[in-house]
Amino acid sequence: MKCNTGDSSFASGIVQEKLSRLGIANEFDLMLHLPLRYEDETHLYPINDAPEKKTVQIEGIIIHSEVMYRPRRQLVCQVEDSSGRIFIRFLNFYGSQVKAYSVGTRVRLLGEVRPGFFGAEMIHPKCRIVGECEPLADALTPVYPTTAGLSSETIRKLIRRTLDSGKHLVHLPEILPDMLLKHYRLPNFRDSIFFLHQPLPDASASLLQERTHPAWQRIKFDELLAQQLSMRLHYRQRRSRSAFILPKKNKLTKTLLKSLPFRLTGGQKKAWAEISRDLAAAHPMQRLLQGDVGSGKTVVATLAVLQAIENNYQAALMAPTEILAEQHYRKLSGWLDPLFEPLGITIAWLSGNQKKKQREIMLANIADGSAMLAIGTHALFQEQVEFDRLGLAVIDEQHRFGVHQRLALRMKGAKTGSAPHQLMMSATPIPRTLSMSYYADLDVSIIDGLPPGRAPVLTKLVADTRRDEVTGRIREACHDGKQAYWVCPLIEESESLQLKTALETHDTLRLTFPELKIGLVHGRLSPQEKFAVMESFKQGEIQLLVSTTVIEVGVDVPNASLMVIEHAERMGLSQLHQLRGRVGRGAEASICILLYQKPLSATAQERLKIIFEHTDGFEIARHDLRLRGPGEFLGARQSGVPMLRFADLERDGGLLDAARTVAEELLRDHPEAATHHLRRWLGDGSEYLRV
Ligand code: ADP
Ligand code: MG
Repeated sequence: MKCNTGDSSFASGIVQEKLSRLGIANEFDLMLHLPLRYEDETHLYPINDAPEKKTVQIEGIIIHSEVMYRPRRQLVCQVEDSSGRIFIRFLNFYGSQVKAYSVGTRVRLLGEVRPGFFGAEMIHPKCRIVGECEPLADALTPVYPTTAGLSSETIRKLIRRTLDSGKHLVHLPEILPDMLLKHYRLPNFRDSIFFLHQPLPDASASLLQERTHPAWQRIKFDELLAQQLSMRLHYRQRRSRSAFILPKKNKLTKTLLKSLPFRLTGGQKKAWAEISRDLAAAHPMQRLLQGDVGSGKTVVATLAVLQAIENNYQAALMAPTEILAEQHYRKLSGWLDPLFEPLGITIAWLSGNQKKKQREIMLANIADGSAMLAIGTHALFQEQVEFDRLGLAVIDEQHRFGVHQRLALRMKGAKTGSAPHQLMMSATPIPRTLSMSYYADLDVSIIDGLPPGRAPVLTKLVADTRRDEVTGRIREACHDGKQAYWVCPLIEESESLQLKTALETHDTLRLTFPELKIGLVHGRLSPQEKFAVMESFKQGEIQLLVSTTVIEVGVDVPNASLMVIEHAERMGLSQLHQLRGRVGRGAEASICILLYQKPLSATAQERLKIIFEHTDGFEIARHDLRLRGPGEFLGARQSGVPMLRFADLERDGGLLDAARTVAEELLRDHPEAATHHLRRWLGDGSEYLRV
């Protein structure tokens, strides 16, 4: 997070320019520029006792010094103390150093001892010429994040000067109530900042290094608290807006439930109850419906849509891809047309590549309210789309949309002065810590578990060299009446190359399996063509469907029970999990074969291992978060949400819980402190302060 407070004349112009590259704009930022790590110069090791693979400090007299050319130019010195000798090598050095490090000079060295060709050695140590009995540092030395032209040492001096000047009294007052600090055993803010920059001599190096020292805890806590406060305020702001009250009428919803060939699972019922209650409230719902791939979110969303419609308000359902939007349109039409026909209600369909005439009819139906439900891609939130009275917007696979696109859909209700309720759905499960931090402004419903009768998907990792075995297996299965997906490799650099690969794969497979009916679907087909292919796959006319990753989200063909993914090593974890979720949707035992090509990078290997070992989306997401960090994991949502600089969601879950509780308490009992804290961490420009 970026911090903010007043004064900007805290360093010379040039230095300030460099500091700004580190995100430091004022003295407060400077004080919050905390050490990356610490060096221990408080202690001297006898050369012979210095442990290896650990930064240590030693001292001795140079007994030999020579510039050598083996294998490259380097300055090699030998240093001796009463316990033994060690070689020192400098790979980049100045002429002045050759002179300075002459025989007989006493030097103090900080570095790692390693076994070398001629015995123990230190490469490139920090080296200082000292007199006899020169005092040791009395505290750990902080090492700061640096930028070109600004060394850690310079930054350390700047910070020390600022801390010593006494100005911190203005910048670092304690904001949080005493009681609260006592309860959570958190040290004072100012003391913590001081401590981290100038740890006391007896400070535990390991606690500081691991960032578990109470002073670190305080800083991380404050950062998380600022995030929680801003999210809570966001949440409150929403609850202060008005929305249409859409109570449960049990008319259309009940009819749908009766007509379904299945009964809702416990998880679906619970989520549906939460959504139904929200729709009846006077402020806009903003709920995230999470459920693993195949958990049955669509039917829950459809019930929400019907609750809006039975209250005579329109609903919109937006999906990120044409294929998925089309599939929703077909599925919901199948479920809802029998209900709507007697009432004279229609469903509108909007997509990017629609014929102009048809589009105009759809737009007119949406505008005059004869279409009570509009389904489509992002075409739904374009300017020309005007709803008569939009009560609910459902956004499927919400992580595929940016914040702005979702906002645009929300604005569609602006005409009537009330914001529509919003239901967002995601099959990319968000680990608890993430949903508590970055999604804290949303309410969350979780469908846990899958509908009954699903056989788990068996995952196999197969090296590309054993491709023949795989084709043999597919042939057998298709002869037995099964259906399979063959997913082409992802080629991120070029869409046209991706298309070429898909076409080639299709050709090759047609030669391999002349007796099978093989279809091909990719992003360049027109929506009609895509639909035609998907439909004949669904009808069982196509046995093997070659596809690009366009089928990644949402596609639902229960009879398909086999999947081959080529170059699985190129794909991300959530992508693999989503793709694999296309099979295992029926009662048939399903298999997902991940073909990979060697050599595998360490991360690719780890990803494949995780996807092989886990089927639970939440577990996979947790690993994904660990591998990629929250920034990448969150993708589009990242924009506009303050990222964390100090706290680590994986490791600081306990602090996050505390910050959440405290945020509520502060807002309730100490609103001035809450405002002050937000201003400290997010700056005056924070939109949250204007609530
Ligand atoms: P997702 O949560 O991934 O969007 P879908 O909504 O596409 O999942 O549902 C997956 C499949 O499960 C669909 O074919 C759907 O009709 C079916 N389904 C949904 N709920 C149930 C249920 N309670 N029992 C049996 N099948 C269900
Ligand atoms: Mg879905």
